[in-house]
Amino acid sequence: MTKYSGLNTICTHVGEIKDTQFGGAVSPIFMASSYPYLDVEVKRYPRYFNTPNQEAVALKIAALEHAESALTFASGMAAISSTLLTFLKHGDHVVFQNEIYGGAYNFVVEEFDKFGIEYTFTKGVAIADFESQIKKNTKVIYIETPSNPLLTLTDIAGIAKLAKQKGLISMIDNTFASPVNQTPIDFGIDIVLHSATKYLGGHSDICAGAVASTNDNINKIFQKSKNLGGNMSDFMCYLLERSIKTLGLRVAQHNANALAMATYLEHHKAVKKVYYPGLKSHPNHQLAKAQMKGFGGMLSFELKDEFDATAFQKALKLVKPSLSLAGVESTILLPALTSHALMGAKARKEQGISDNLLRFSIGVEELEDIIADVEQAIKKITKS
Ligand SMILES: *Cc1c(COP(=O)(O)O)cnc(C)c1O
Repeated sequence: MTKYSGLNTICTHVGEIKDTQFGGAVSPIFMASSYPYLDVEVKRYPRYFNTPNQEAVALKIAALEHAESALTFASGMAAISSTLLTFLKHGDHVVFQNEIYGGAYNFVVEEFDKFGIEYTFTKGVAIADFESQIKKNTKVIYIETPSNPLLTLTDIAGIAKLAKQKGLISMIDNTFASPVNQTPIDFGIDIVLHSATKYLGGHSDICAGAVASTNDNINKIFQKSKNLGGNMSDFMCYLLERSIKTLGLRVAQHNANALAMATYLEHHKAVKKVYYPGLKSHPNHQLAKAQMKGFGGMLSFELKDEFDATAFQKALKLVKPSLSLAGVESTILLPALTSHALMGAKARKEQGISDNLLRFSIGVEELEDIIADVEQAIKKITKS
């Protein structure tokens, strides 16, 4: 197959299946769950992650992540759990970054004990916070940057270097940045994980996951994953392949809208604080410029104390208060009521997540329309 290196050409073409029967322009969907086994090089079966549509979309994701190989899964959590269980066994230890996705956090604290896998969550995201937690039996370092919901950055190259020095496997959840904005393998990270439910899918209509790494690591993850059975269906693979064709275009618009929105909110008299790595005021702005090509479509902000965040959300007309993120449509939620409800007020406060903090997933609509919606909602909840 031709090697393409341009982002939007990779998005559009890598992995596509030729329609040899009719010459159609897009990959056909092959729904078979039964394939020949005699005199064939590859025995195909959906749970072996090797049907034509599974391979097509995995090739695209591998190319985007500058990886040798990739696998797709039925959800981001299937990718994360299958990958962690591949490299960890009884008696091993993992260092996790403190702010990781709630579902990944739950998987660790609810399941690891019964496998006899030890873990530590760091106190902060400085390299020293990770290094100080490494033990004799540590096998994996796991990070997520930008983090949810405060968009804190972890130094990807620094973590990769630390992992190499100590002989550990480094993993990153790259969901928030997407491979358009961040390619961690270029910085030396071993394994890249995605909830493809988010930017890769991008239309709020599929649930999927992915992992990208070397051929050797992906083969190991495959051996475990065929036992765990978290593969994606061919129809979903087709939808994901279709979605990724516009990933570069979508993320460019998410980036531009979010930077403009963050700047607008930062100067708004009703707003107390904005968290966005593209802002000069963000404590990790220099690091963002070093390791990100764009700053992403996610931002968080706090309204001033006199404003009610729930009333604000209800007053919005275009922006939808919704779970999940990264669709073409703008959505918003209050982490204290959703993703971070279970951790309790005290732990939230320690992490700097105020009860007035809103996580805003900026869509690809016209910027003026998103701003006008926010403006009218603030007006509506302002006591005159
Ligand atoms: C949504 C999400 C996940 C989990 O993905 P699912 O597809 O819901 O299983 C993992 N990491 C991050 C950062 C996410 O936003």
